[in-house]
Amino acid sequence: MEIHRNLIGGEWVAGLELLENINPSNTEDVVGRYAQADAAQTGQAITAAKAASPGWARSTPQQRHDVLQAAASEIMSRRAELGDLLAREEGKTLAEGIAETARAAQIFDFFAGEALRLAGELVPSIRPGVSIEITREPMGVVGIITPWNFPMAIPAWKIAPALCYGDTIVFKPAELVPGCAWVIVDVLHRAGLPEGVLNLVMGRGAVVGEAILDSSDVAAISFTGSVATGTHIAAKCAQHMRKVQLEMGGKNPLVVLDDADLDTAVNCAINGAYFSTGQRCTASSRLIVTEGIHDRFVAATIEKLRSLQVDDARKEGTHIGPVVDQKQLDVDLAYLDVGRNQDGAKLAWGGERLNRETPGFYLQPALFTETSNTMRINREEIFGPVATVIRAKDYDEALELANDTTFGLSSGICTTSLKYASHFKRNAEAGMVMVNLPTAGVDPHVPFGGRKGSSYGSREQGRYAADFYTQVKTAYTLP
Ligand code: ADP
Repeated sequence: MEIHRNLIGGEWVAGLELLENINPSNTEDVVGRYAQADAAQTGQAITAAKAASPGWARSTPQQRHDVLQAAASEIMSRRAELGDLLAREEGKTLAEGIAETARAAQIFDFFAGEALRLAGELVPSIRPGVSIEITREPMGVVGIITPWNFPMAIPAWKIAPALCYGDTIVFKPAELVPGCAWVIVDVLHRAGLPEGVLNLVMGRGAVVGEAILDSSDVAAISFTGSVATGTHIAAKCAQHMRKVQLEMGGKNPLVVLDDADLDTAVNCAINGAYFSTGQRCTASSRLIVTEGIHDRFVAATIEKLRSLQVDDARKEGTHIGPVVDQKQLDVDLAYLDVGRNQDGAKLAWGGERLNRETPGFYLQPALFTETSNTMRINREEIFGPVATVIRAKDYDEALELANDTTFGLSSGICTTSLKYASHFKRNAEAGMVMVNLPTAGVDPHVPFGGRKGSSYGSREQGRYAADFYTQVKTAYTLP
């Protein structure tokens, strides 16, 4: 089997160790073999990115556009093949894998266009004869550290703006999903990036990640992952006075009011809580439901849960793929135990470990009812197909419960009332608000990010991405 290598300074470089990438739907299936970089190779990648930085910073908008556009076209035309790879290595269903791959292509396409729209401002000075130019300059070398749950889309939404705005990159993907990361880098490399502009260093967080954090040549770090790692990265970046952008967890509420359309509410809950096996930072994990609709909502949600097929991610008819690995499955099972035996919630549906034709990490999606917002299952992010129902007496209490969390990524409401929808949009303490839509599922051309413990630093995606990937310069001229 071919060994996929790291890209350092334009060369594909073998690693000292190898990692076997395992299919979570069938642990006997090895998806691929991937080189693991060490700290020294990571250092070489940073050096290469630094050397390439002045050249790429001066590259023309057309050059950046052409690379990004070529990547977008290739990824879009290969979406069936690459979506299958995504489903095989991460466990999203094939439909989800293909959709995410197409999303990655859309993101490259968006930033290809943005490269042609780079502009600054010319501002009159308060001093006679002086003119002021405000421009955005690249940051330099950017470290990109990504998680396993969106192995195509998240690398795309960090790499595309970095290249668009003239930065060079050291990219460290999550250990569980080297396949998608390698493909994105291969596509961009062949699309004509100069050597050293994009470097791939697959490997462990404690080795490769730390080497990136410790380098004074890395000007900015964009990270998506756990709160624990994000907090550690923020502290390290403070030591270096380095720009940092963190996207971490969520404990996203979906409020369902008495006047909601029941089908809409159930569909939002099922999609938001369980699709992608609940492994989305925007997943609806707390379903906050007012008295008048509570029992009907719970009954209809369980009815829908009964019809969901949990099986091999790539099998036709599968709605929910496996959990990503044994470690995450253990976390999910531990929280199911906490919910039942410590918190005293009622497990109204699911939560069993499932056996399928092939050995995989299959878990029946679970719904807890009779929960209170102080329970651990309502405070801590589980990151699995587990949701809870919290009963609220009215809209005011529902809003209070929705905001009573240390997180603030996405917040949803199902209602037919313009009054409540408008009030909720203004008062939800979250970076993103959804009305009659699942809390997960966003557009690629608008800002993505949260508040409180969910996010740190400026927004990702859309034009707002420029705030992170560039630094502003104000130049005064007296001719
Ligand atoms: P998860 O628990 O979901 O895997 P992590 O936050 O551990 O989330 O991982 C997200 C990304 O952060 C991965 O690419 C991982 O390798 C990386 N990472 C983990 N530990 C460190 C670290 N100490 N320094 C830098 N990156 C790290």
